[in-house]
Amino acid sequence: MSIEILPARLANQIAAGEVVERPASVVKELVENSIDAGATKIHIDIERGGHKLIRIRDNGKGIEKDELTLALSRHATSKLKSLDDLECISSLGFRGEALASISSVSRLTLSSKPQEQETAWQAFAEGRDMAVKIQPTAHPVGTTIEVKDLFFNTPARRKFLRTEKTEFSHIDELLKRIALSRFDISLTLTHNQKVVRQYRARESAHGVKRVAQVAGKEFEQCASFIESGSDGLKLNGWVMPVGSSNTTQYSYVNGRMMRDKLILHAIRQAFEEVVGELALPGFVIYVDIDPRQVDVNVHPAKHEVRFHQARLVHDFIVQAIKQVVLPADQAGSLESEQ
Ligand code: ADP
Ligand code: MG
Repeated sequence: MSIEILPARLANQIAAGEVVERPASVVKELVENSIDAGATKIHIDIERGGHKLIRIRDNGKGIEKDELTLALSRHATSKLKSLDDLECISSLGFRGEALASISSVSRLTLSSKPQEQETAWQAFAEGRDMAVKIQPTAHPVGTTIEVKDLFFNTPARRKFLRTEKTEFSHIDELLKRIALSRFDISLTLTHNQKVVRQYRARESAHGVKRVAQVAGKEFEQCASFIESGSDGLKLNGWVMPVGSSNTTQYSYVNGRMMRDKLILHAIRQAFEEVVGELALPGFVIYVDIDPRQVDVNVHPAKHEVRFHQARLVHDFIVQAIKQVVLPADQAGSLESEQ
């Protein structure tokens, strides 16, 4: 076989394998785009678990008519200009891959209106078989992206979709993670045209109400509040050593949700040292670190980060948690400080 460059569409579909695993991954990429666009209100409408429709509407800064097609191309991003920018990235996206990937495996419509543009415009891309079509439309300031028939042209992937109920529960769980990453953004989730979740924007930076809404009353009442650190490295959030069915395990680095092994390990170690082995400590933890001290470009879906001073960060988390977790014989007197 001779070596050939893959056609763009095929290359996008292959890349889509890395970021678009299931409807929830589409929701993640699109909501993160809305957050990066400065939206304060985001609506997530799902039909049939996302098999049929995923629609994200935001009131962010919008995309100019001339940039609609570009937004759908691979490696097209407004968030990164140079390698230096990658060193201290503050936006959630930067790879310029999501829209190209998603549009290569679905029927995607992108409608948008920036504040300063008089009319709204809409771009339609179907599996990227054909050129993107652009036409005027009605839309308030902001952006709506509709993703229909996910994986319609990649039957092998479509086969891996689970039931509508399972796919929707992944979306619901993802939205909880996002809801805890930004208390100042209001998020509405509908399924088959019924409102399922409504996270209202909170003024307070601590967001206890939202934590209670996401993690439950028991967590809110029993968890201890942590706050620790200096300018370069900060940790805050809640930890809860008790609770048998604790599924509240959320961690964030510089506002980005993570399933980071180092953070998990540090949390477990702190609990082990104080209260002995615990299967499932509950936590909502925010680590804030100088962006130059962390590499976010480790994983295509950005679930993991690499800390330059891993040992230091690990030990800092262990110490911070040990300060608030009480030994087993003193437990029961835990109280949230909020
Ligand atoms: P990335 O987020 O890595 O830049 P994407 O493929 O997700 O790449 O998006 C490409 C570009 O499209 C973004 O850089 C941004 O300029 C624009 N964009 C995408 N979604 C939105 C949105 N909801 N509001 C405004 N601009 C958007
Ligand atoms: Mg993006």
